[in-house]
Amino acid sequence: MTDTTKTTDGRASTRSQELFAAAKRVIPGGVNSPVRAFASVGGEPPFIARAQGPYMWTEDGAQLIDYVGTWGPALLGHAHPEVVEAVCKAAADGLSFGAATRAEVKFAELVCSMVPSMNDGMVRMVCSGTEATMSALRVARGFTGRNKIVKMDGAYHGHADVLLVAAGSGAATLGIPGSAGVPPKVVEDTLLLPHNDAEAARALCKEQGDQIAAIIVEPVAGNMGCVPPEPGYLETLRALTRKHGIVLIFDEVMTGFRVARGGAQERYEVTPDLTCLGKIVGGGMPVGAYGGRRDIMESVAPLGPVYQAGTLSGNPLGVAAGLTTLEIIERDPPYARLEALSARLADGLAYRAAEAGLDFTGNRVGPMLTGFFRVGPVRNYDDAKGSDLDRFAQFHQQMLSRGIYLAPSQFEAAFVSAAHDEAIIDRTLEAAAESFAAIA
Ligand code: PMP
Repeated sequence: MTDTTKTTDGRASTRSQELFAAAKRVIPGGVNSPVRAFASVGGEPPFIARAQGPYMWTEDGAQLIDYVGTWGPALLGHAHPEVVEAVCKAAADGLSFGAATRAEVKFAELVCSMVPSMNDGMVRMVCSGTEATMSALRVARGFTGRNKIVKMDGAYHGHADVLLVAAGSGAATLGIPGSAGVPPKVVEDTLLLPHNDAEAARALCKEQGDQIAAIIVEPVAGNMGCVPPEPGYLETLRALTRKHGIVLIFDEVMTGFRVARGGAQERYEVTPDLTCLGKIVGGGMPVGAYGGRRDIMESVAPLGPVYQAGTLSGNPLGVAAGLTTLEIIERDPPYARLEALSARLADGLAYRAAEAGLDFTGNRVGPMLTGFFRVGPVRNYDDAKGSDLDRFAQFHQQMLSRGIYLAPSQFEAAFVSAAHDEAIIDRTLEAAAESFAAIA
């Protein structure tokens, strides 16, 4: 049921502006998650009325080609009919029981079969990526009896206190390296490493390895914009953590089921001890998950001493959306198509930016890509921060005015979905050529 009518100017017009004004009176900043406020790109956010396939429609009546994909979940495009049907069917049987169900067993079995680190292990469902990472860290600390955790500069793992240190994504965009309200004591055991720096990781482990419970990493960073791992980097983290008895956690909230069926760990053939999932695993519903090695997951209550719980965890609607999404992926793997479409988009953008004489570096891993307005390479957060953010803001506005909806921040990835097609990519490239020319 995708609409093929022409895209239209997606900038906020009267109706969205009225809604934003009303929202700001009752919701902090008018939004329920900071980056949605468009603070770093200027203008006001268009309010979204509905979405289908690769498109969204605004309250002002514009049709947008969407590359945000609800920040990742919409791998199959918006409102896939089978997923919607499964959710409606589940809803008719009751919205939540807070009790064990048949579907959640099937869901857990499927997730474990798809994610290499869970193949012989276990998984626990939660309701967001934030819950997944904070729970995985608690488990790692409980399992090792150590307190220190390590994260990478510019990585974002959700908004749990211990992880809000030098975080990327919205926190990077707004220039908040940490957050007010996080007591220094809470983060004194959170150690930072520059992303993609194997030597720095080696030195830290040599010095403090026996005190470190976990190293958590986005195997393909997405929250400083898309930054692929340097060759050998993930392998080094794997070897170091093994040597020092540290739990290696891959935060695959963004990359899981996206950069490959089994996520980045399948694509790069490095298996962590624990994996955090979110976004696609819930098919658009609030679902996250963490899991991995059986001996580690056996420390989770009620089997073990690490407490973690949730009233709505494994709820029937989330499970229906997630399970159906993964079943569709298994039946009809979209990865070859996603690779081809994304390559067409990334190559086309780089070519058109060069034609306009702009400094531009395209980073891409599968259907996850970011164009940085600077000369490359972009291999860590410092590099990403060196981009011309004003130029990105102008580009964002130009694209939106041509009906192309990109994440309103340089420090995010664009996502191509299986509902996009060549014609849509080519329309996007036409808009990009005009936009680049307008800002050059
Ligand atoms: N980890 C990563 C890698 C993420 O990209 C995000 C969200 N963008 C999170 C964790 C947090 O997930 P959620 O927003 O569902 O809490």
